[in-house]
Amino acid sequence: MTEFTLIPACGAAIPTDPFIGQHLIDGAWVGSADGAVFERHSPAHGDLVSRSARGGGDDIARAIAAARHAFDAGDWAASPGAARARILLKTADLIDENRERIAVLETLESGKPITQARAEIEGAADLWRYAAALARTLHGDSHNSLGPDMLGMVLKEPVGVVSLITPWNFPFLIISQKLPFALAAGCTAVVKPSEMTPSTTVILGQLLQRAGLADGVVNIVLGYGDPVGALMTGDDRVDMVSFTGSTAVGKQIVRTAAGTLKKVSLELGGKNPQVIFPDADLEAAADAIVFGVYFNAGECCNSGSRIIVHEDVAGTLTEMVVDASRKVPFGDPLDPRTKVGAIISPDHQAKIAAYVRDAETAGAQVALGGKALSIDGLAGQFHAPTIVTGVTPDMAIATEEVFGPVLSVLTFRTMDQAILLANSAPYGLSAGVWSRDVYTCLEFSRRVRAGTVWTNTWMDGFAEMPFGGVKQSGQGRELGRYGIEEFLEVKSVQMRIGDTRPRWVA
Ligand code: NAD
Repeated sequence: MTEFTLIPACGAAIPTDPFIGQHLIDGAWVGSADGAVFERHSPAHGDLVSRSARGGGDDIARAIAAARHAFDAGDWAASPGAARARILLKTADLIDENRERIAVLETLESGKPITQARAEIEGAADLWRYAAALARTLHGDSHNSLGPDMLGMVLKEPVGVVSLITPWNFPFLIISQKLPFALAAGCTAVVKPSEMTPSTTVILGQLLQRAGLADGVVNIVLGYGDPVGALMTGDDRVDMVSFTGSTAVGKQIVRTAAGTLKKVSLELGGKNPQVIFPDADLEAAADAIVFGVYFNAGECCNSGSRIIVHEDVAGTLTEMVVDASRKVPFGDPLDPRTKVGAIISPDHQAKIAAYVRDAETAGAQVALGGKALSIDGLAGQFHAPTIVTGVTPDMAIATEEVFGPVLSVLTFRTMDQAILLANSAPYGLSAGVWSRDVYTCLEFSRRVRAGTVWTNTWMDGFAEMPFGGVKQSGQGRELGRYGIEEFLEVKSVQMRIGDTRPRWVA
């Protein structure tokens, strides 16, 4: 029996000409002021996929000025919610119409499987529709019981100009967790996708124009964190930064944003535990564990990268997870059978390997994988499904984000121990519990420190359900009603009725 299930190059055609990406500034598609560009090759195939304008100080300054002008002019912010909703709904329809084109580009730049990319684009369109509904139901509050001569109103107003900075692992989905909600609130935006995956955000800009969005409301600048992201964070014409990415960069953003005390919303890393009690449905748990750790090659903030298993079932469950891991198809992301594609870059592949090596040196055992995979006909980098057992809480692999297809297995005996282990990482994004006893699930859900808890499932998500982290996984929430609240300020208006104000000076 082969050790893994591998999908060789399927021979699907890759466009011969690269996608050309430009900045969108005040409604015009433009190259960089200094003419600089950068290229992205497919992490799975090695082919050139895109050539993009590489933004610098002049480009970002013009984009921020355009967003500021569009906000201050007031046309977008003051437009009826129904009008904003129409543009969001039209954008959703255009996303659907262009799903295949977007999905192929997403796969080629990120290395994720084409079936998953298609599902993500479909999910993204749903977020634009959900945000459209929020635009029409947005309202404040009133206080009619402050006394006969007073009326209080709480107005919700857009924050203003927002900088949206996104990572490479779910490029189209994550911008769709931010931008439609910011637009629904009446904000204007400057957007920077990751330098690894710039192109589908460019397509989104094209679709917004086709949907009728006015010039300057959304501006896109392509390029690197330094200087583009940093300037988007420090500029005093920007009112808020919404960032998804690593905890290290998130901390840097907080420091830079402190100079102008802008609002900051952060969606950061995770080291998400699943705790498995002995009464759990082990077959269902094993399948969810395998899904949780290999989905998106483990390059997922919600990766279920560590399991904490009751000692009585640890041996059985680990065997089931090893068996299931061998059956997961790893390989050419353009082949619809593939469930796990390429690793984003050679540097990242090396970082994953170092975590496994260090764990082994510290006394852990590699029960499966632990090495790079070479796949027939593919020049890019792949990593084998990897299971590391005998992990103890002091090892880096137990508490740090590996961001690869690597599962750490820890064990426990009591609920208190399980909670202690689950809460021992600096992160608090998501957590899961497996038990047939609803009281066990409830106790775990209430005691674990995480923004999302899944009971007897993993990584389900809904536009209606808020998402975000505690501790070093971030601050603020996306999705659900909270998704629009992030982009709103609250203003209190207190109105005196008639000339009833008691005089201060007699
Ligand atoms: P990253 O932090 O390296 O980069 C994210 C974005 O920030 C990129 O666009 C990058 O160019 C930009 N950037 C880099 N330096 C910057 C700076 N100094 N100022 C402003 N912007 C800067 O993250 P990544 O490697 O692209 O993504 C992986 C990380 O994202 C993981 O840690 C993952 O957990 C996290 N993530 C979190 C969520 C969530 O919702 N919590 C979702 C997806 C990914």
